[in-house]
Parts: sequence; C-alpha cells; structure tokens
Amino acid sequence: MKGRFAPSPTGRMHLGNVYCALLSWLSARSQGGVWLLRIEDLDPQRSRPEYARQIEDDLRWLGLVWDEGASQGGHAGPYLQSLRSDIYRHCLDRLWTRGLVYPCHCSRADIMATQAPHEMDGRIVYAGTCRPDHMKGNADITLLPPPQTPVPPSGKLRLYVPDVDVEFEDRHYGSQRVNLASHCGDFLLRRADGAWAYQLAVVADDALMGVTEVVRGRDLLLSTPQQIWLARLLGLPVPSYCHHPLLNNTTGQRLSKRDRSLDMGLLRQHYKPSEILGHLAHVSGIIHRYEPVSATELLSVFDWNKVPQQDICIGDDISGK
Ligand code: GLU
Repeated sequence: MKGRFAPSPTGRMHLGNVYCALLSWLSARSQGGVWLLRIEDLDPQRSRPEYARQIEDDLRWLGLVWDEGASQGGHAGPYLQSLRSDIYRHCLDRLWTRGLVYPCHCSRADIMATQAPHEMDGRIVYAGTCRPDHMKGNADITLLPPPQTPVPPSGKLRLYVPDVDVEFEDRHYGSQRVNLASHCGDFLLRRADGAWAYQLAVVADDALMGVTEVVRGRDLLLSTPQQIWLARLLGLPVPSYCHHPLLNNTTGQRLSKRDRSLDMGLLRQHYKPSEILGHLAHVSGIIHRYEPVSATELLSVFDWNKVPQQDICIGDDISGK
C-alpha cells in the first residue's frame, strides 16, 4: 500500500494543505503503507524551489515523515514533476499516435464566451470548437484515424473525450458516476505555454510511482473520472480514491493562500505542531475533545468513518479554546 501527498509549491502551505497531508499520512500509515511526497511544480510561472523547501520543512516540523520524496530520493523518482517531462512526453505520444489528441487554438476568453460555467463547480466545459471534423459527434475512439503529422512542438493540446460514463467508488463519498463529455469535456494535456497539464502528469506519476491510494480534497473529485479515463487509455493501473471535506474560512470559502492568518508561517509562530494537529483532529472528529497530540498518537484512533463528508469551518483562532 502506498499513499502520497502531492502539493504544488506555489506558496506557503496553509491549514487546508496540512489537513490534506495529515489525512493522507494517517490513512497510509494506519494501513502500514509507504507515504511519498511529490512536488507538483508543473507551472513554471507560479512554482518556486524555496516553496518546495518550505513544504518539506513544515511537514518535518509537523512530524509527517515521508519515505520517498524529492530531497531523499527513492526508487520511483524523480519526485519533482519538473524533472519528469520525458515521461509525460512519452504518454502524450501514445495518445497522439492513437489519434485521440488535437491542437486547440482557443484562448481562455474564447472559451468563456462560448460556454457557461458548469453549474456544479463553476468549471468551464470545453465546447469542442477546435475538434477536427472526424471527431465531431460521438466518434468511436477505436476507429479514429492515426494522425498524419507528429505531435506539434508547441501550443495547447486536448484529449478527445467521448460520451461515456465513468464510474468509481470513492472511499469517503461513495459511488460516483460522471459523464465525461458533459461534465469534463475535451481536456488539456499540454497548455499554451508548453507546460504539461495536471491531469496527464498526475496519472502518469501516481501509476509509475506505485501509488495505490490517492487522498486529496473533494475539490478534485471531478478530476477523478478524467484521471481514470486517462489511466485506462494509457494502460496504467488506477489507484483507489478517497476525497476529504475542505476546510472553509468563516465566510464559507475554501481556505486559500490568501488566508494569511492560517498559513504555516504564522501558525508556526503561535502554535506547537501538537496543537495544530490536535485542532485538525478535533474539528474533523478524529478525537472527541481538543488536546495537543502528535501525528503518531493519532494513528490508533484514526478512522475514515469519523471524518465528516460536509466541509469544515475554521476560524482564525485554532487554540482549541
Ligand atoms: N498538486 C495538487 C494541488 O496542490 C494536488 C494534486 C492531487 O492531489 O492530485 O492542489
């Protein structure tokens, strides 16, 4: 059994990121599993090595120790996505050769103008404007003609997605059934600036790193059918998925890097690791009464059934008073 934490080094971790790391760590360790740390630095504009170093330092400070990761290596590395381009290129080539990928020239503004945000989570489903004619309608993916040209060296690339339902069992949110065409649409494999898309990288990495359980926030629940579909197309194993509720601030919004009062820089000035972990364990029902506690101490009481499905509201004062 192998779990993972896969943060993007685009800023200091906040309490919501710590919550994700803690649940993923507890889930893996309570099953006697290995836990790995993968740094998802795909976005060259927003990722910084110093943020990656801070993430590692914050996790160590919290006592969330990992077995494989960027700074200590492991047999499935490298653990920095920026060093794994050859793997993503190979995956893209395989999809391209099967005629499943097409270049897209739509700007974000073009897409916003043609499509209303999706009612469920505000995402935009691509209308298929750049789809080649032979992919219009609901083409059979086994009958698509192989492309006559090699993969274009630059520009956006999209995966053709047929009108199929993907079903999966989320360990925390139960049975899910999502229509790929209407809920996700043709999704990006490579961005306009040449950066690899999250969906492609995460599928290749989870499979090649031997990850068997993905624990992450429920904001990524709708990415899961896309990832399962991609894994199937690439003949890669599909991990089990366990999404968790999100931590929201007092105005009901998901904690983000803008909620400075709950970022690890400030939290570390005011609290001990055991106080932060005790608070998180308490608000998510893992312990009944607030008390300072170490990650290891939580292992014996951790149970996914205690974790709520609905999101959790967090105020600025996490001292448990
Ligand atoms: N890198 C993503 C993030 O920080 C998480 C990806 C995942 O867990 O699949 O939001």
